[in-house]
Amino acid sequence: MAIGERVLMGPGPSNPYPEVAAALARPLLGHLDPDFLSLLDDTCARLRTVFRTTNELTLPISGTGSAGMEAAIVNLVGPGDVIVVGVNGAFGARMADMADRCGAEVVAVHAPWGRPLDPQALLDAHPQPKVIAAVHAETSTGVRNDIDPLGAGKGDALLLVDCVTSLGGIPVEVDGWGVDVAYSATQKCLGVPPGLAPLTVSDRARERMVERSPSWYLDLRLIGDYAMAGSPRRYHHTAPTAMISALHAGLGALLDEGLESSWSRHADGGARLQAGLAARGFEIVAPDGHRLPQLTAARVPASIGDEAKVRRRLLDDFGIEIGAGVGEMAGRAWRIGCMGHTARSRNVALLLAALDEVLA
Ligand code: PLP
Repeated sequence: MAIGERVLMGPGPSNPYPEVAAALARPLLGHLDPDFLSLLDDTCARLRTVFRTTNELTLPISGTGSAGMEAAIVNLVGPGDVIVVGVNGAFGARMADMADRCGAEVVAVHAPWGRPLDPQALLDAHPQPKVIAAVHAETSTGVRNDIDPLGAGKGDALLLVDCVTSLGGIPVEVDGWGVDVAYSATQKCLGVPPGLAPLTVSDRARERMVERSPSWYLDLRLIGDYAMAGSPRRYHHTAPTAMISALHAGLGALLDEGLESSWSRHADGGARLQAGLAARGFEIVAPDGHRLPQLTAARVPASIGDEAKVRRRLLDDFGIEIGAGVGEMAGRAWRIGCMGHTARSRNVALLLAALDEVLA
């Protein structure tokens, strides 16, 4: 079966930037080749720019966004450590689960799916947590959680933030907001295929990492000894060199465009999409002021009928992939991405026109 080109408008992956496809087609380098190591150093420098941080320990973890989440958690909390986790969707719940598996004392602070977290509730949840954790952009509901107040009020705690769906698409200010550890993923607003998890760790957090991470593969000290500029470059694992080259190219495309331009391109695409959906009877799940432009969760009107059939026709007849609802919204909402290279008004116009034709 020949598989046709897709317009990827699900919750991820997005379409990669053309520069990324070119990088993937280049000859492969070995993981200890000096040319590769300088490309890796440059990739880490670009990540610092995109995360808006000067953190020395900033690098891509080999694995998807969940590997970034797990790398952060296994290095930050061990048995008995208190971690406050905001849970208002599937990914906050995943963070809490991972911390629980590390033996940490997890204090979960819930908000209903589709509503933002109350930052003060997280700050008040425990008098002396080691870590406060939240998801910036909840991909399961399209809600943006406020991070700035958590950094301002964290006191002695470390602030851990999931930036999987936010980095590159909306403002992320690691140093400006007082974030100690942040991770992302390549396949969303960075416009690179899935497979790497950019991660950054403040010096303050490095000093307070657990003695010995229970995961060998995700031990940040061991990874840093290979991946960081100026480190001994000790072999740890065979780095996915083609993917790192793809990330380097994707970050290059993003920085050539300019972070602010990328944010406004995402804002524009999301606004057009949300207005178009509302005009067709969809209800945007997230409240005004907390809507993500890059990921819209919208309740499907009853007039649509079998929503799965409509999504399938968009895919089969127009090559457009959109996402199903998850958790409490399964079968009742769609999740439509407008991220990375996909975040352009022409793709929004195509989707809305295709939707009109399928529904006619
Ligand atoms: N965190 C958020 C907010 C996500 O949206 C996702 C994936 O969609 C993840 C974590 C996990 O990333 P991955 O599926 O790349 O492992």
